[in-house]
Amino acid sequence: MLTINNLSVHYRQTLALDGATLTIDPRRIVGIIGPNGAGKSTLIKAILELVPSTGTVTYEGRPLKSQLRRVAYIPQRTAVDWDYPATVHDVVMMGRCVHIGWLRWASATDRKLVVEALERVGMEGFAERQIGELSGGQQQRVFIARALAQQADLLFFDEPFVGVDQTTEAIIFQIFAQLRDQGKTLLVVNHDLGEAVSHYDDILLMRNRVVAFGPRAEVFNDTNLGLAYGSGAIGRVLSGLPTTGMSSLPGDP
Ligand code: ADP
Ligand code: MG
Repeated sequence: MLTINNLSVHYRQTLALDGATLTIDPRRIVGIIGPNGAGKSTLIKAILELVPSTGTVTYEGRPLKSQLRRVAYIPQRTAVDWDYPATVHDVVMMGRCVHIGWLRWASATDRKLVVEALERVGMEGFAERQIGELSGGQQQRVFIARALAQQADLLFFDEPFVGVDQTTEAIIFQIFAQLRDQGKTLLVVNHDLGEAVSHYDDILLMRNRVVAFGPRAEVFNDTNLGLAYGSGAIGRVLSGLPTTGMSSLPGDP
């Protein structure tokens, strides 16, 4: 169980995240949904202590900070330096480094886990390629392989489907479901409210705070979507059309 209690983040004048409190059960795929600027990436960064925050985060009763080797984080694509010279094999082996420790040799087990992870995402033929040469969908699969090799229990993905074709998206959702069925917990930021939402068990609807959290069917209603996206956006949201940024709500300052 991942327990987030009163988590807040200020960036200078901006209150990016206001007192998020929620408990996420294991064996769930959680979709983090909300418009641009709603604090979705900030929530993940605050959980992982990548930005200064107030509040607490515990995993299975202990501070998450003391268990970061159990966590895999795949940041938004724009946050990754794609010119970094590394082969696909190297990137996936980085998932083993949390266990091996730097400056130690990878064991046969580590190498086997890397090969298996690449096979599982269908990227075994790309091991010696430079990561920067791959398409968006292939890169995303390599980062998922890294998380698999790490044998993480708690996985965070920030916008994994941006720049990814439909076939790859389907493969990724299949892998997510397998991981969930193995008892892992997945948190996936997805600003797009298209058909993809049906793959999530729980939905966390955000607008710089928790608007609603729970099983998908309970969270998606006009009131909650209006609170997150602005009432004018509901029709567009429900029809799967893009919603650009946040529209202002009656009652907003
Ligand atoms: P989302 O991922 O939902 O699009 P973000 O978490 O990236 O939203 O951003 C939440 C708010 O915090 C936005 O208003 C954004 O402009 C602001 N913000 C994000 N990162 C920074 C930063 N490093 N410095 C200042 N403001 C930021
Ligand atoms: Mg974001």
